[in-house]
Amino acid sequence: MKTPTVFNIQKFSTHDGPGVRTTIFFKGCPIRCLWCHNPESQNFKPEIMLNKDGKEELIGQNYSIKELVKKIQADQIFYDQSGGGVTFSGGEVMAQPLDYVVELAKECQRVGVSVLIDTCGVAPTEHYQKILPYVDGFLYDLKFLDSSLHQQYTGVDNQLVLKNLLYLSDQGAEIDLRLILLDEINTDNQTAENILAWLKKEAVRVAKISLLPYHNFGQDKYRRLKRECTQHFIEPSQAKLAEIQALYQAAGYQVSIGG
Ligand code: SF4
Repeated sequence: MKTPTVFNIQKFSTHDGPGVRTTIFFKGCPIRCLWCHNPESQNFKPEIMLNKDGKEELIGQNYSIKELVKKIQADQIFYDQSGGGVTFSGGEVMAQPLDYVVELAKECQRVGVSVLIDTCGVAPTEHYQKILPYVDGFLYDLKFLDSSLHQQYTGVDNQLVLKNLLYLSDQGAEIDLRLILLDEINTDNQTAENILAWLKKEAVRVAKISLLPYHNFGQDKYRRLKRECTQHFIEPSQAKLAEIQALYQAAGYQVSIGG
């Protein structure tokens, strides 16, 4: 079985699903969002990055399933008290060696740890089909409903993203739909109205919507990877976020700002 590379294990995370969670960040992503705040997550292989003291550090390491489950289980008491668990994130977890990811989810389920999958939707539908029995839900990014904008800002169109979202919805999966908000690009009311109309037309079942405002916290990481950060985006204002939140709420959705 091929072993994926992990670039971070974040304990006591409160942004990647309900309760206290451990987030496993797998390294490697099939798309290239121009705003990505974790550029070290994009390449599948380990790579050198300067740490905050300017020293070179190798990012990415491999763990056996047993090792990872042990790390995850260490905080089980906090998951039990808070309704938390583990979140497999990235990069893109669904583009990792699938046998490993499914086995890891199965093992977490066996030991009583709830699993969420954080995904951009760009992976074969059969990957979602295979993991579905072993996970409790999906944090599912819909970056752009407009496919040409998806192509422009991520490098790929959104056909697979929409197909997989509809598949998971049809299967009755628990979906937290996550919408990245880049001011002056997708924060107009029409964008929200188009998404709402599409969700209604396709009868997509979404448990909640999370609005994820762009932030520039990751910009320094490009320098530390000796890469150029080519795009700069604008954070939406609090007033704009509240306006968008109200639009989705008026359509009957539970909506939060942030993860
Ligand atoms: S999907 Fe996530 S990890 Fe991949 S490029 Fe986009 S923001 Fe970065």
